[in-house]
Amino acid sequence: MSSPHEDAPVLQAVDLRKHFPVRGFRSHKVVHAVDDVNLSLYRGKVVALVGESGSGKSTIARLLAQLMPVTGGQLLLHGQDATAKNRRAFGAYVRRVQMIFQDPFGSLNPVHTVRYTLTRSLKIHRGRLRGVELEAALEELLDRVQLRPAARYIDKFPHELSGGQRQRVAIARALAADPEVLLADEPISMLDVSIRLGILNLLRDLRDRLQLAILYITHDIASARYFADTTMVMYAGRIVETGDSESVTQDPKHPYTQLLVRSAPDPDDLESRARGARGEAPSLVAPPSGCRFNPRCPFANDVCRTEVPPLLPVGEGREAACWGYAERPDRPSLGSVLDAYGERPAVDAALIAVVEAVKEGDR
Ligand code: ATP
Ligand code: MG
Repeated sequence: MSSPHEDAPVLQAVDLRKHFPVRGFRSHKVVHAVDDVNLSLYRGKVVALVGESGSGKSTIARLLAQLMPVTGGQLLLHGQDATAKNRRAFGAYVRRVQMIFQDPFGSLNPVHTVRYTLTRSLKIHRGRLRGVELEAALEELLDRVQLRPAARYIDKFPHELSGGQRQRVAIARALAADPEVLLADEPISMLDVSIRLGILNLLRDLRDRLQLAILYITHDIASARYFADTTMVMYAGRIVETGDSESVTQDPKHPYTQLLVRSAPDPDDLESRARGARGEAPSLVAPPSGCRFNPRCPFANDVCRTEVPPLLPVGEGREAACWGYAERPDRPSLGSVLDAYGERPAVDAALIAVVEAVKEGDR
């Protein structure tokens, strides 16, 4: 198998940044939802973006889909600036880069049949097809998402389908554009646990057969290990660790990734896992200075509290944004997160600490 880095990326985000203005009285403030994020998606590869609620995952997906403008940074499609400056350019971009959402019920129009939804998408992206040509295209789409025979599903309404079947229709609608990139924002988290694996396997099949570049967003680091070639871990708007999924999940380097992995249930038990804790997203109005994880990190020292750590090399093709891996005398010395936290580290507690730090900084 060839390394992904032998190819040029299909879609690339460079120094991506998104700050949302905080509405209301003190309106000069902003939420630092995404800061300095670099990521590359390659043909036939899956990149997982993992992080807790409010860490900025969906914001990244929406920026990559150009559903909202960036505050800073650049999007490159095949190395060219891809920022759509008008509707026509946006249409052309959407044909290449399609998004799948968490809730297939919300994303499919309840008053339209599968036939209507898919025909409309084919028409938008490929022009008007008629008669046998249209029927063949519809059948091919349903076949690709393993809804067979097509006749059983084509005239159904969303409420007549199961959650998994609805998500398959949503994926078929995305495929109607014949895209190169799929952005999948928690595509399985609202589905019954028993059918999650089936959807991941379908996406994997599409990765291989259609050579799609896929961004897979999840709370669940164990599913990232199962499904993704590369895993990127986000914390409070920044990427804190990246590398091949096996290494990141088996030998996490950043203290936050270590917490995430240690608090995840058995990774081989993908089917039986329920959805992780939801909770309010932390408001990152005034994120902690230095490393954003420092208020919760058992190893943090003055460097961590004052300087933002860059992504540092921590092994082949791997990086972690932690001063513990810097070649400098004042670096913190890292120990075992498990020892530091005891048996059951609570990741949510880490997020609560950030919220508190934010409030503190806000006063
Ligand atoms: P979840 O796992 O809950 O889906 P997430 O990682 O996808 O979380 P985002 O939805 O990207 O997180 O949100 C990141 C941060 O940006 C949060 O603090 C959120 O409150 C804030 N945010 C997101 N969208 C907006 C918006 N339109 N206006 C203001 N703030 C926003
Ligand atoms: Mg989200």
